[in-house]
Amino acid sequence: MKAARLHAIDDFRIDKIEIPHPKGEEILVKVGACGICGSDIPRIFELGTSKQKYPLVIGHEFSGTVVAVGEKADQSLIGKRGAIFPCIPCRKCEMCLAGEYVMCEDYGYLGSRDDGGFAEYCLLPNAWHLVVSENENISDDAISMTEPCTVAQHAIRKGNVTAGQNVVIFGAGPIGIMAARWCKIFGAKPMLFDVVDEKVEFAIKRGEYVVNSVTNDVVETVKKFTGGRLADVVVEGTGVGSALGQCIEVCKSLGTIVLMGNPSRDTTITLKQHSMILRKELTLVGIWNSRYSDTPLNQWKCTVEMLDNGKMTVEDLITHRCTLEELPQLCKDIYERKITICKALYSSSK
Ligand SMILES: [Zn+2]
Ligand SMILES: [Zn+2]
Repeated sequence: MKAARLHAIDDFRIDKIEIPHPKGEEILVKVGACGICGSDIPRIFELGTSKQKYPLVIGHEFSGTVVAVGEKADQSLIGKRGAIFPCIPCRKCEMCLAGEYVMCEDYGYLGSRDDGGFAEYCLLPNAWHLVVSENENISDDAISMTEPCTVAQHAIRKGNVTAGQNVVIFGAGPIGIMAARWCKIFGAKPMLFDVVDEKVEFAIKRGEYVVNSVTNDVVETVKKFTGGRLADVVVEGTGVGSALGQCIEVCKSLGTIVLMGNPSRDTTITLKQHSMILRKELTLVGIWNSRYSDTPLNQWKCTVEMLDNGKMTVEDLITHRCTLEELPQLCKDIYERKITICKALYSSSK
């Protein structure tokens, strides 16, 4: 099979390798689509794989159809299609025992520590990793967006967003837009900010309320949007310090700020903003990935269900589809900022 493997930092290429053979509980999926995550770009060009294990098939946002299973796996899985939960928890540490799998102390991960989705096929440790979609009309490309869509869902849930609330989201990339869509599913009213005009216009065309935070006064905009009340919940989706400062300013007293964007340098806020956290008694909540435990609710299953029943839509956020052969170049173009993307993915149907 063809697989896009990282051989070293900045050495990402297509290889011909053996199709893995499922043993025991393992299941083999034919990859339908695999998204390029924001984290894949530094992984390829700057950081390498988390344990510097090479060569490695990267890509962790993927969908697939079961084509073969090991002798101990359920044979009826063959032909089932779904999203793949890439984290392989140890199931022994304190967090694993509490069902908090993404906080595992010693985990594997399809696409960053183990072979992932940028290939024709991928081996999953067992059926637990597959979240089956029941709707044949949903594309493989859409199902591959379950991971980022579930991160967005997790952020909105951690903000305790409920019906009638005003939610402000900083960052109108795919996860920001999907977070806005979760707000609507939960009955809240979202608006987004971004600093790039192209992204603002793209999101507006996709039906969202989006404003450029450089060319507009952020606090005035939010006051206008909320009838003077400011935001009940603010999602920081950029990882940039100045945006965190703005989150504090647009959050109303007793409100919540959800920190979702990964920071890439030290964060600085002003004295006035720092004081506001105290005076307004703001709650700051960090989020990491999403929740996969069935109790109290498996967020991945929820996302797939919402995609299946049409309440969540994601396909309109895909701006770039490529073949495996085209993938290394597309990643390079993203890294060199030659193109502006919303969601870019490897699609086996392209
Ligand atoms: Zn990702
Ligand atoms: Zn663990």
